[in-house]
Amino acid sequence: MKNLADKNVFLTGASRGIGRAIAVEAAKEGASLALFDLQAEWLADTAAACTAAGAPKVSVHACDVSKSASVNAAIEAALAAHGSCHGLVNNAGITRDGLLMRMSDDDIDAVLDVNLKGAFYFVRAVVRSMAKAREGAIVNIASVVGIMGNAGQSNYSASKAGLIGFTKSVAKEFGARGVRCNAVAPGFVETAMTAQLPAAAREAMLRNVPLGRPAGPDDIAPVVTFLLSPRAGYVTGQVLAVDGGMT
Ligand code: NAD
Repeated sequence: MKNLADKNVFLTGASRGIGRAIAVEAAKEGASLALFDLQAEWLADTAAACTAAGAPKVSVHACDVSKSASVNAAIEAALAAHGSCHGLVNNAGITRDGLLMRMSDDDIDAVLDVNLKGAFYFVRAVVRSMAKAREGAIVNIASVVGIMGNAGQSNYSASKAGLIGFTKSVAKEFGARGVRCNAVAPGFVETAMTAQLPAAAREAMLRNVPLGRPAGPDDIAPVVTFLLSPRAGYVTGQVLAVDGGMT
C-alpha cells in the first residue's frame, strides 16, 4: 500500500535539490503533484521523473512564492487541475549570506520574503480547502540554523526560526479542522545552495555532524513524505531535525 495514494501534494521550489527529491519520493508513494518554481520550464525534468516514478497526475506552475498575487494565481490553477490539495510542502528558499554589518536592506527583505512570507502566502491560499475537507498536511522546510543560529546567516536563520513559529501557530489554529503542520529542519545537505560554501566552512560544519557525512536530498525526502502521510496522523506542531545528529 502506497502511503500517499489518492493524495494531491503541492510543492514549491521543486525544480532541483531537496524539492526535486521530495517530488520524486511523493510520486513513488502514489501522490499526484502540483509543482511550483519561478519558471515552469525549469520543472519539466522533475515532472518527467515524477511521472516515471508513478505519479498519476503532475502539473507545473510558474510562481514567485514571495509575491502573493503570483501565489494566489498559481494555486487557483493547481486547484483547477487537481480539484483539491491534501498536502503542501513549502520548500522554496534562498540564502544571501553575509555579516550583519554589511547586509543590505535587499539581502534582508529578499530572504524573509521568499523563505518566510512565501510560506504564509501558500498556507493562506490552500488552508481553506484543506479545512473544508477536514484533511490536510503541511510541511515547512526550515533549517537547523533556525534552531541554533549561524554567524553570517542572520537573515536566513531569522527566516527559518520564523518559519518554525509559523508552523507551531498553524498547527494550533487549524488542528481542530483536521489540518496538521510540521517543520523539517535539515542540517548540511549537498545541493546547489551549499555548493558555493568555501571548503573550510564545509569542513567546520561536518566536524559537528556525529554521522560524519553530509546529507543528500534523498536523506530528507522520506521524512517529509512520512509527515505528509496518514502514518503521521497524530503528529503536528513538531520540528524534526534531519541533521546527522548535529543539533
Ligand atoms: P536549491 O537552491 O537547490 O533549491 C531551491 C529551489 O527554490 C530552486 O528550485 C529555486 O528555483 C526555488 N526558488 C527560489 N526562490 C523562489 C521563489 N521566489 N519562488 C519560487 N521558487 C523559488 O536549494 P536546496 O538546498 O534544495 O534547498 C531547499 C530548501 O531546503 C530551502 O528552503 C533551504 O533553505 C532548505 N535547506 C537547505 C539546506 C542545505 O544544506 N541545502 C539545509 C537546510 C535547509
